Amino acid sequence: MSSFIALPQGMNENTFTRAIKEYRALLGDRVRTDQASLQPYMRSSIADSGSRKPSAVVYPSTPADVQKIAKIAVKYRTPLWTYYGGENEGYGSATPATNGQIVLDMKNMKKVIEVDKELGYCLVEPGVTYGELQDYLKKNNINLWLDAPAASAGMSVVGNILERGAGYTPYSEDFLFSCGMEVVLADGSLLRTGMGGIPKSTSWQVFKWGFGPYVDGLFSQGNNGIVTKLGTWLMGAPPPGGYMPFCIKFPKVEMVGEIIKPLMFLRETQIVPNAAALVNAGWEAATIFSAKNGNGSFLRNGGSPLPVKKLMDSYRVGAWNLYGAVYGSPEQVALNWMYVSGTFKQAFGNKIQIITEKEAKGDPAFEYRKQLMMGGVTRQHPLDRWRAGGGSMKFCPTAAARPAECAKQVKVATEIVNRNGFDYLSEFSFFWRDARHVIDLRFNNGDAAERKRAMKCYDELVSAFIKNGWAINRTNPAFMAKVAKSYGPTMGRLNRTIKQALDPKNILAPGKSGINLV
Ligand SMILES: Cc1cc2nc3c(=O)[nH]c(=O)nc-3n(C[C@H](O)[C@H](O)[C@H](O)COP(=O)(O)OP(=O)(O)OC[C@H]3O[C@@H](n4cnc5c(N)ncnc54)[C@H](O)[C@@H]3O)c2cc1C
Repeated sequence: MSSFIALPQGMNENTFTRAIKEYRALLGDRVRTDQASLQPYMRSSIADSGSRKPSAVVYPSTPADVQKIAKIAVKYRTPLWTYYGGENEGYGSATPATNGQIVLDMKNMKKVIEVDKELGYCLVEPGVTYGELQDYLKKNNINLWLDAPAASAGMSVVGNILERGAGYTPYSEDFLFSCGMEVVLADGSLLRTGMGGIPKSTSWQVFKWGFGPYVDGLFSQGNNGIVTKLGTWLMGAPPPGGYMPFCIKFPKVEMVGEIIKPLMFLRETQIVPNAAALVNAGWEAATIFSAKNGNGSFLRNGGSPLPVKKLMDSYRVGAWNLYGAVYGSPEQVALNWMYVSGTFKQAFGNKIQIITEKEAKGDPAFEYRKQLMMGGVTRQHPLDRWRAGGGSMKFCPTAAARPAECAKQVKVATEIVNRNGFDYLSEFSFFWRDARHVIDLRFNNGDAAERKRAMKCYDELVSAFIKNGWAINRTNPAFMAKVAKSYGPTMGRLNRTIKQALDPKNILAPGKSGINLV
């Protein structure tokens, strides 16, 4: 019997023991292989998490540590799964894409290297969380906004940006606003992207493109390097009176298409400049429920899907709840708000309910969204209180932000999710031209039959969406290969060619985004 929890694929115990000895010579007790230390990296909200176990965890403290770790990894061929100790729940948590990878946990790399107040940017290490960066800004009296995802207090700024995650302020599309990376490549060399290669560069965090091919994308949602520093722009907070959040409640699920037409006009003209969120009744009810009941109780505990009407009546939510905001000078905000409210009144008359801070009167769902749209760091995610058992697999397709397409996605997804006995819980975020449709498949992870059903349901969603031409932009390790395949053989070949050139021994997160050399 092996003395390790798992071994890298194809490796024998002796070789792995020698590799661990060399890692220990470098890092001392920052190398762990025992059950208790590895337990956090086996905990996952996705339904098949037990099938992929890490073999060890190592904790670098500096980029130089990471360079030396990469060299040992190449020598012994021990794959490394980079992670920072964050959450990534719904997309696989900390569990590696294949069995036996060594988790490279970046949680000791916690430096906020620079925040530039004048031009509004920061440079951080991968262990810095949104909560820590927000505290840093407060402590140093810096009036810049983050663009934080939901429940971001313990999430890594670098992890979210590399996953091409999103927030809710006018910046929203976080990878677009990142600027300059430091990356350790598989051979242990250190690359600075963009302007970072110029000695004494003054513009690493202000100009993204550098010279020649733009390579930062190779390190996002990928497995071509280990990012040890990342720059990102931070939005200047508007002057007092320069931010006004709003909510519009719509009474019918079928209205989704009608909402999108006026909304996309307001988005494309930048009258509403942030990624407005269209939240369905279940997701919104969970926000209100969790604010009132806190930890310990759940909105529901199994059974057949909850009818939308019941949720609307019990929690006074819309079938759809649109959250957006206007920003700028106080004068601009007043004028733009007249335009936004007028546009929706003209389209829907008195069928809708328009809510601003005045009418919301401290409503917890409104408060939560108000925080998110000004980059505020929040802690608990409302859907955590949806049901016991903690299972969550986020299904994340992209739609062209056209009325008919979004309406059809809702119909197809609801049918599949309900037929499998689950609830349709969704949020659309409207970016520059696309609507990102996040469906959170919540299930009881303690129930084996339900786990199996959740896997089947997710698989059906992937197949049905691909068949309709709706690509999936982010998924958990159990479905990465299937999603990657949907992008076609030429893309698969290109990804493998790049991997072969940069990481021929296949040591960096094999299987991530379906890219693997075996
Ligand atoms: C309740 C809840 C709400 C969420 N809301 C949102 C939301 O609003 N918007 C959104 O986009 N996402 C959201 N997510 C998804 C996800 O948790 C976030 O995107 C999160 O920020 C991911 O970062 P992490 O700290 O969990 O990353 P990690 O798990 O540390 O990293 C995620 C992945 O990025 C890669 N990676 C991380 N660090 C490095 C590195 N240094 N070098 C190379 N690769 C690296 C790895 O492949 C890793 O698996 C939510 C998740 C939950 C649980």
